[in-house]
Amino acid sequence: MDAIKKMRLEDIVAGIPGGFFVYRADETEELIYANRIVLQLYDCGTYEEFQAFVGNSFRGMVHPEDLERVEKSIREQIVANHEKFDYVEYRIVPKGGGLRWVEDFGHLVENDVYGEIFFVFISDITDKIISSMEMQERHLKHIKDRELLHAFIQSTIYAYREVYIVDLEKNYGQMIYPDSLDEYETGDYTKILDRHFKEGILEKEGEESLREVLQPVSIKNALMHKNSVEYHYRKRKADGVMEWCTTTITVCERREGVPVMVVMCIRSVDSIVKREEQQKVILENALLNANQANEAKNIFLTNMSHDMRTPMNGIMGFCDLALRHVREPERVRDCLEKIKESSHILLGIIDNMLDMSRIETGQLSLERSENNLVQIMDDIHGLMKDGIEEKKLSYRLDMDGVVHEWIYCDLLRMHQILVNVVGNAVKFTGPGGSISITVGETPSLSSGIANYEFRVKDTGIGIAPEFRGRIFQPFERERTSTVSRTQGTGLGLAITKNIVDLMNGSIEVESEPGKGSEFIITLPFQIRKQSLKMGELLQMATETMKTDNLAGKRVLLVEDNELNREIAKTLLEEEGLVIEEAEDGDVAVEMVRNSNGKYDFVLMDIQMPHMNGYQATRAIRKLEDAKLSRIPIIAMSANALEEDKRESLRSGMDMHLAKPIEMDKVLAALEWMLFKN
Ligand code: ADP
Repeated sequence: MDAIKKMRLEDIVAGIPGGFFVYRADETEELIYANRIVLQLYDCGTYEEFQAFVGNSFRGMVHPEDLERVEKSIREQIVANHEKFDYVEYRIVPKGGGLRWVEDFGHLVENDVYGEIFFVFISDITDKIISSMEMQERHLKHIKDRELLHAFIQSTIYAYREVYIVDLEKNYGQMIYPDSLDEYETGDYTKILDRHFKEGILEKEGEESLREVLQPVSIKNALMHKNSVEYHYRKRKADGVMEWCTTTITVCERREGVPVMVVMCIRSVDSIVKREEQQKVILENALLNANQANEAKNIFLTNMSHDMRTPMNGIMGFCDLALRHVREPERVRDCLEKIKESSHILLGIIDNMLDMSRIETGQLSLERSENNLVQIMDDIHGLMKDGIEEKKLSYRLDMDGVVHEWIYCDLLRMHQILVNVVGNAVKFTGPGGSISITVGETPSLSSGIANYEFRVKDTGIGIAPEFRGRIFQPFERERTSTVSRTQGTGLGLAITKNIVDLMNGSIEVESEPGKGSEFIITLPFQIRKQSLKMGELLQMATETMKTDNLAGKRVLLVEDNELNREIAKTLLEEEGLVIEEAEDGDVAVEMVRNSNGKYDFVLMDIQMPHMNGYQATRAIRKLEDAKLSRIPIIAMSANALEEDKRESLRSGMDMHLAKPIEMDKVLAALEWMLFKN
């Protein structure tokens, strides 16, 4: 009977396209029928095979993990559904393995023979599920991306003052930031623009052109071939203050390539622009200063190179000449005189340079000793004599106003000031002109101090009023050396002014071009009150010593440069001194140690390969034999800075003389040492 029923059922469902099966709706869920497509779904060749595979029950057809959910869902649907239809999706595991998804349309019917049974239409929806799962995944990703985008927009939007979405077709704008309920902020785009520029833009043309470029048509044109445009402008705020704004317009939708929807972001860039402007000013100033300094330096280098080359050419030229006429003593003497003269000029230039660098680095310091003003002025005249005679200038010195001749000052710097100013007067006054110097003294409020005034007047070329303001600036000259044919670096007066300042004095100039100039220097000096003329005494003592005292004295000359050693040796021997040589500091220390006190002086170079002059001096000063350790040591160094001098004295030397060697100074130093000891 079952077979007949089955046949009849088979006949009924033969035309059903897809899987169809029947099972009992009781607990057994026993299978009653399954068509061929169901068998295929489960990879079974015969109904019996299928029955065995699924245990002849609906329960065996469903994936164990889905079974509970499926049975529950069917039950609930049948209860809730009047027509007793249900729909479930579940996984199945075919006999051949793998996993497939099916959908199951069930209908609970009452059958005379079987009682309550389920008619089920089943079909494979694996492909659909997979693609829908992919879709879902994609969807999820999309949502995630959108969330990210949203977060990004949220965080960047604060940088803007206002953000609108503008429909260029409909001329409609919607404010999306800040969330404003203000009716003006959303609606007619033209009105939004009106409102935005209500307070005005800085220049009228600016406003018109900006309104122009912000019209929908202009925006469309501007964004035809790019995604974003930006406009900068100044706009008046409600409080009347102007500010810099930037409006950025970005395409968010195109139709057939034409932008139809844009996002318009407006922000204030006032602080950025202001900062940039400040930086620009700073940079421009820095550039200007650098250019000015560079220009002054270039002019200076050109002058320097000219001014240094001139005496250097002299030295080299006369050396050649002397060598060529080495057998003509008169000629050689003449050459040597000229070489000496040029060397002095060169040394002067180098000294000036050094002084300037010392001033610039704040290293110039003053020393103080007792000096006689009459003597100082006499020295100056001595130094200027040749120039004065050569140009046949009249020279007059008036010191009637000086009450106290003895002052405490830095002699070297005093000489420098006066040599510069009087030297310029000689330099810039034509033949036959005159130079007059007046020195006066006025009492000062502080006791023991007097103010001195030096007036140096010439009848020379004078100084143009426009140059007078710059005359004390470094490297400034009214005419370059090539034009004026006068030597100089333009440093003299700058150095003079700095020294005068350092001495708490002042320097001024009065001048009339073509008629002459007058430099007025005032300087306060401590004056000597006591009549005991210490300096005079010292000078007298030195003078009385200036006999042939040095003849036969033994000098240890420490110097690593062979040429310098030879020059010094020759010159010193000419003065009757006996010279022994050491080519390095360590050699010198040994020679002194083994000298048995035969040396009277050591002349010590500073920079030497093995042991420098400072170290050698310290080593000598540490010798046990006092006769050896107290030997007078005089530094002769190319290091001419104040700091070098101090270092020499600190290391235990008695004196520091700068190279190149000036024999007069060396001899005076040796005499002084003899006298002192
Ligand atoms: P230098 O003499 O090396 O050029 P200075 O600093 O001493 O440098 O002087 C600067 C410039 O001032 C000179 O080049 C010159 O143009 C001008 N000057 C200085 N003193 C006089 C003077 N007595 N008469 C005319 N011009 C002067």
